[in-house]
Amino acid sequence: MDTTTAASLDRMMRELALTRAELRRISGTDQLTGLLNRRGFDEAAESALTAARDAKLPTTVLMCDIDRFKAINDQFGHEFGDKVLIAIAEVLRSFAERKRMLVARHGGEEFAILMSGVSKERAVQHAEDLRQSCAAESVASGEVSANVTISIGLAECRGETDLAIVMRLADQALYVAKHRGRNRVVRADADSIAA
Ligand code: GH3
Ligand code: MG
Ligand code: MG
Repeated sequence: MDTTTAASLDRMMRELALTRAELRRISGTDQLTGLLNRRGFDEAAESALTAARDAKLPTTVLMCDIDRFKAINDQFGHEFGDKVLIAIAEVLRSFAERKRMLVARHGGEEFAILMSGVSKERAVQHAEDLRQSCAAESVASGEVSANVTISIGLAECRGETDLAIVMRLADQALYVAKHRGRNRVVRADADSIAA
C-alpha cells in the first residue's frame, strides 16, 4: 500500500470512529429536551453505580413524574405540553448539573436522577428542593400559563443491589407519592416496599 492510500484509509477510519461516537451520543439523547434518554441513562447509571460501589459511596435514585400531565395536554394542547416538558427538564438539568448528578428523561413525562456520595438525609432534602423548584416554575406561551408539580420516589442502593432493583423501588415509592396526593417526595423503605 502506498503512503497516500494508507493516509486516506487512516482518515476514513478516524471519520468512521467519530461517526460511531456521534451515533452513540444521539441514540442516548432525548430529542425534545436534550437530556439523556432511558438508554443513555441506563448505560451511564451502571457505570456510576459501579464507580460508587468501588469507592464505597452510597447511591440514590429519584424517579420524578409530572402530576396530571395528561390534563395539561388536554387543556392546552400537546405543543404546550412539550413546552412544559422542556421547562421541567431544564429545572432538573440545572439542579443536577450543580450537584453533579446524572439526569434523564426516562419516559414520556418521567425523569430519573442518580446521585452518588450523598447521605440519605441530604438526598431527601435534594428531592424536596427539586420538588419545590418545579412547583415554583411557571410555563407560559402566548396567553396561556401554567404551573405544574412533580411527585418523586426515592430509593437507595444497598450493598450489591443492582440498578434495576433500585429503579423499581424508586418507582414503587413514586406510586405511593401519587397515591398520597401527588406533589410530594416518598422514600422507599426496603422493609415496607418489597423489591
Ligand atoms: P399522574 O399524576 O398520575 O402521573 O397523571 P398523568 O396525567 O401525568 O399521567 P398519565 O400517565 O395518565 O399521562 C401521561 C401523559 O403524558 C399522557 C401522554 O400523552 C403524555 N405524554 C407523554 N409523552 C409526551 C410528550 O412527549 N409530549 C407531550 N405533550 N405529552 C406527552
Ligand atoms: Mg404523570
Ligand atoms: Mg408517568
